Amino acid sequence: MTDKVIPLADHRYLQRVPVIPSQLEAATGLLGDTLGRPLHDLRISVTDRCNFRCVYCMPKDVFDKDYAFLPQTSLLSFEEITRVAKLFVAHGVEKIRLTGGEPLLRKHLEKLVEMLASLTTVSGQPLDLTLTTNGSLLAKKAQSLKDAGLKRVTVSLDALDETTFQRMNDVDFPVADVLHGLEIAHQVGLGPIKVNMVVKGGMNDDQIVPMARHFKDSPFILRFIEYMDVGASNGWKMDEVIPSAEVVRRIGESMPLIAIPANYAGETAQRWRYQDGGGEIGVISSVTQSFCGDCSRARLSTEGKLYTCLFADAGHDLRALMRAGHSDAEILTVVAHLWRARTDRYSELRTINTEGLSSATNRKVEMSYIGG
Ligand code: SAM
Ligand code: SF4
Ligand code: SF4
Repeated sequence: MTDKVIPLADHRYLQRVPVIPSQLEAATGLLGDTLGRPLHDLRISVTDRCNFRCVYCMPKDVFDKDYAFLPQTSLLSFEEITRVAKLFVAHGVEKIRLTGGEPLLRKHLEKLVEMLASLTTVSGQPLDLTLTTNGSLLAKKAQSLKDAGLKRVTVSLDALDETTFQRMNDVDFPVADVLHGLEIAHQVGLGPIKVNMVVKGGMNDDQIVPMARHFKDSPFILRFIEYMDVGASNGWKMDEVIPSAEVVRRIGESMPLIAIPANYAGETAQRWRYQDGGGEIGVISSVTQSFCGDCSRARLSTEGKLYTCLFADAGHDLRALMRAGHSDAEILTVVAHLWRARTDRYSELRTINTEGLSSATNRKVEMSYIGG
């Protein structure tokens, strides 16, 4: 048998092991990068595997039965994840989101949730601990996740129409099961629950208005995400992006909307509420209106590499430092140096030069690997 060559997987083995600075420092909880952006959010990918093959994320022809997912020994253990999380919290992180791949596929995830839920922020508050899921296992797991200390969930759902949804997830997964998962999550108190819909022009944009109508007057906050050029496998094209302004226009035709202010600086979604009091929606305009200026997010890959941008081509290997026996003070200092040196603003640059960037950056890391 010949080994299949999968260029995408090479990203995972790009080695960038940080050098330990000679002068160690203590955390102040007040890190800023070159653009003055604080470090507030940490997204942790707990697995690179998924039971869906969403066309915009893990297209079947690439992520097939021969695809080399990470071996178990590569994954950070729960103890390692918690250790890294604790260091980030000392640097000012207040919000942690578990993601993937599909995070609910990671065995005994409740145990990790319990470990993370015991951390407190610099000001002594509980962490905002949340998780993004495709909802397929949510009905089964919602109660145990809640009991373990998870605060809330975000659920991805790209269509209500069965045929369209199955074409998007590409594994024939039924809509009803995700809707059931949503209900159970709501019942056990994992709210406020956000529902994320990625809009891919020509595939599911006819679902914008039905989705809005379905979730209007419900406890769920629907958010529309512009289809992004993450990774190198989804064959992204600008003309498949439906701009958020168009989403708002289509919904507003039958259900008038009013813009409302952000909940906090750095919120990724722009908020709109229904004029008749039927709740709110959000639009995430990652392509047409970048929000790099407020981006306070760091990402930890399944195998412990730190990415300071969703579109970075390489990560900084914190696992190597941990497994080589470096101390908390050393790793804390490394993270401080990396964040202070951060210059990332990919989306902003893409807005300036869409053509140039999308063709030039073919080494971007996959979303299923570092987490959305
Ligand atoms: N499997 C989980 C899920 O789907 O919710 C968590 C991981 S998934 C990578 C996180 C989020 O990224 C999902 O809401 C997904 O829809 C979004 N996503 C993936 N690929 C995307 C793309 N090309 N453009 C925009 N959003 C994308
Ligand atoms: Fe899986 Fe989530 Fe990617 Fe869909 S978006 S393939 S559910 S990781
Ligand atoms: Fe943040 Fe990078 Fe996305 Fe800009 S492109 S918002 S810096 S993750």
